[in-house]
Formats: sequence, C-alpha cells, structure tokens
Amino acid sequence: MISPRSFSEAVSRLVCGVFGAFSPRDYVAEEVYLGLSALQHRGQESAGVAWIDSDRRINVIKGMGLVYEALSQSVLAETPARSVIGHVRYSTAGGSMLQNAQPICANYAKGPVAVAHNGNLTNFDALRNTLENRGAIFQSTSDTEAILQLMAHQPRRSPFEALMRALAEVEGAYCLVVLMEEGLVAARDPWGFRPLSIGRRGDNYYVASESCAFSLLGASFVRDVEPGEVILIGSGGLKSYRLPVESGKKWLCSFEYVYFARPDSIIEGRSVYEARQEMGRRLAQSESVDGVDFVASFPDSGTTAALGFAAESGIPFEAAVVRNRYVGRTFIQPTQKVRELGVRIKLSPSPSLFKDRSAVLVDDSIVRGTTAGLVVSMIRECRARALHLRISSPPVRFPCFYGIDTPSSGDLAAAKYSLNDIAKTVGADSLRYLSASAMTDAIGLPPDSLCTACFDGNYLDGDSSSSPRGCCGKIFD
Ligand code: AMP
Ligand code: SF4
Repeated sequence: MISPRSFSEAVSRLVCGVFGAFSPRDYVAEEVYLGLSALQHRGQESAGVAWIDSDRRINVIKGMGLVYEALSQSVLAETPARSVIGHVRYSTAGGSMLQNAQPICANYAKGPVAVAHNGNLTNFDALRNTLENRGAIFQSTSDTEAILQLMAHQPRRSPFEALMRALAEVEGAYCLVVLMEEGLVAARDPWGFRPLSIGRRGDNYYVASESCAFSLLGASFVRDVEPGEVILIGSGGLKSYRLPVESGKKWLCSFEYVYFARPDSIIEGRSVYEARQEMGRRLAQSESVDGVDFVASFPDSGTTAALGFAAESGIPFEAAVVRNRYVGRTFIQPTQKVRELGVRIKLSPSPSLFKDRSAVLVDDSIVRGTTAGLVVSMIRECRARALHLRISSPPVRFPCFYGIDTPSSGDLAAAKYSLNDIAKTVGADSLRYLSASAMTDAIGLPPDSLCTACFDGNYLDGDSSSSPRGCCGKIFD
C-alpha cells in the first residue's frame, strides 16, 4: 500500500503537461510544439520532444525554460516525424536542471522507447530497491525512469507488453505518453488522478494533459483516457486496453478544478471554467455581504471564482489588481525572499479603485500565505477602508503526494494557524474559505470520485478497497 510519509522523501513532485501526436502521413513535431505551448501553464521549468527516426533511433530535444525558449519551432517544423511526444515540466525548489527534463529516452534490447510522465509514482522507493537488487543502474533521480527500467528487465516481451506489465506494478499518479515502434501509447493510472484527453483531426490523433491543447491544432476533443486505460495509436487507428489493476474508486484531483487546469479545459465532462465560477457562487451563498463596494480578484488564479462571487452577490466586479503578464509564476521560487519579490513584481493594486473603499478579494487558495499577505499589504498602502479575503477552496492543510508541489505541513498556513490567525497575519478584516462539500458540489462530480487529500488528509493508503499488490511480483522473465 502507499505510504505518503515514506514517499515524502522522493525527489520529483511534478504536475507537468504531456502531449503526443500521431499521423499516418503528416509530420507532427511542430504540432507537438504548439500543443506544449497550450499546456505551458502546467510547467515552465523545461520542455522537450522526442521521436523515432527512420534509422530506428530515438531523438530528443530538451531545454530549460518556456517552450519557445527550450525548443525551436522552425527546427521542429522541418523534422520528419509522424509520431512525436512532448513534455513541459513544472519547477520544483532545488530540482531545476536539464537532467530532470523529459521525455526520458532509451534504446534498449527491444528497440527505442521514450516516456513523458505527469504525476508521481508513490511506490518508487520499493521499485527502485527491487530493480537495483537485480542490477539496474539508475541514470537519474526521476521516478519515471523506473518505468523504463521495468520494461528493460523483461527482454522477452514486446515493448508494449512490457509496458503493460510494468504499469501493473507501479502505484500512484501517472499520465503517460510513450513512444515505441509499435506506435504512440497513452496511459492513465487506475485512480485517474491527473487528466488526459484524446483529440482527433481527420486521421491524426492527439493526446494531451488537457483538452485546451486541441483547439489550437484545429482538432476536436474525442474523450478522456479512462482511469486504468492504455491506448495504442498506430497505422491501424486507436486500440484500447485495460490495465489488470483494480482500484477501489476514482481519485481525480479536485485541485485541477480549483487552480491547476486551464479554465477552457473540460475534465470528466465538466468545464473547469464553470466549476470555478460555481465555487465563487457558492462562496457568496454562504454569507450575506453588506457594505462592500466591489469584488476583486488575485489575477489570474482568482478571477473566474470572483466573477461567480460577484454574479451571486450582486456586487460589481472590478479588475482592481493588475497582473504584469510578462513575468512567470511566483509560487515555486526557491527562497521566501525571491517569492515575495516575485509577487510584488507580478501583482499590483490600483490605488484609485481601493482608496477609501471596501472590497471582497477572491483567490483560489492559500498555501504558505505569501501571496495573500503581500497583496493585502499592498492594498492597505492604497488606503482601502476594509478588505475581506475569500478563498474559493477549503483550507490546504496537508501535502500532496500525487504530483502537485504543495509543501510539507510545516509550511502550510492552514496546517499551522487558526483561520483567525491567518486573517490577522495576512492583514485581512475577515477571511472565509469555501467548505469541502461546497467545493465538490461545485465540481459537480460524485464526491467519491475525487481526491481531496490536501484538504482533508484522506490519502489513497486509506482506501482499503484498492487492490494491494506486491512489488514486481511476477513480471521478470
Ligand atoms: P501562497 O502564496 O504560498 O499562499 O500560494 C497561494 C497562491 O499560489 C495562490 O494565489 C494560488 O493561486 C497559487 N497556487 C496554489 N497552489 C499552487 C501550486 N501547487 N503551484 C503553484 N501555485 C499555486
Ligand atoms: Fe490534488 Fe490535493 Fe489530491 Fe494532490 S492531494 S492530487 S493536489 S486533491
């Protein structure tokens, strides 16, 4: 079973973006570049693409930074590849290096293979021990490498069969796109932690972490990859397989709807925009707000919920905090000082809107409290009369072990302090959060199909109905 505590030592905690394209006749490397650009919000540390050339060799290009910095669109437009995968990696403190960029590639006994992974394997330590005892030498600290190593230890099976068997041994969160000579493979873990969608334009197939990546390519959303499903796309079209693993229930990450996914994506049939707006509406329903002049948001993360709050309460929305669009995310900067400076560079309140007025300020979440504290103090400098902070998700009290980089409990504001103390620390006149039930109602999926562990501490290892499995039981030849 999964042990969140031992896993907390693992090295790579990533929400990332994966993209794959297959065409029977067109070159698709440039489309992967465009697809990755649409998934840029899922990772800004590095980007990479991989394809298999006519000499059966795997090719990979990776670089640090945003997609346009790491990769050359014009080079990819000239690349003769009909099956290509790509990855954008989310930055984690201390782990920012090219060595951690994906896809991870190998030319092993059964041919070339490349893997791009979104999520976290929670039994990585056990897998690594078993594999090292069998002689494996790991090249990186990435849990994704365990999948390649598991494949390489089954030299009598085809790459696809070896991958299926490898996936039956891994636990935790994974959405994968894998390139092998048999075709383009996409796989989603049996719990369905992270989203993964299939798109199509004519005979061309696409697989993306989020459906927002398809419209840029003129492709239509076909459906989500099901939890526990593996699809193989080749010249014969798309074939679907099931992993031989039972999961007690689905564990789709509720935080994707709160913060991570792009609002124009559809996950499990639910529009992220609508879910987020509904969170704002339900937040407004939970109280009567008097004497407030306007609703404002922390852009962009709180804006959709703030619009819902304004619509429900009848209080006008003002774009009173301005976002500098030319600087990146601040959350994950390695030191608190840099993080604070990052918030100041990124967000700036309009003095003329706040002066002598009272506002409701909406953001999607409080993690360490850095953003809320700084924005409220900047608004105080504008001499606002009153500031009421409203958060469109429940308090984040527990770390995530399934691929979102939330810090350990010791750094989480709501794990350390009471709500009154958080309000005082950030300098707000009042602070309210959305309740857990209102959040799941707003998402609109059955509550038992969602992961809410960072809000309630209900981790997968408490899911007694998930089938427990040994490590690498019968897979080796
Ligand atoms: P903090 O400043 O540490 O309280 O972080 C909260 C801010 O970061 C909010 O404005 C969120 O929109 C954003 N945020 C929440 N979770 C994450 C995450 N896992 N990665 C990056 N940003 C986040
Ligand atoms: Fe998502 Fe939170 Fe679950 Fe992590 S713990 S998968 S962030 S809901």
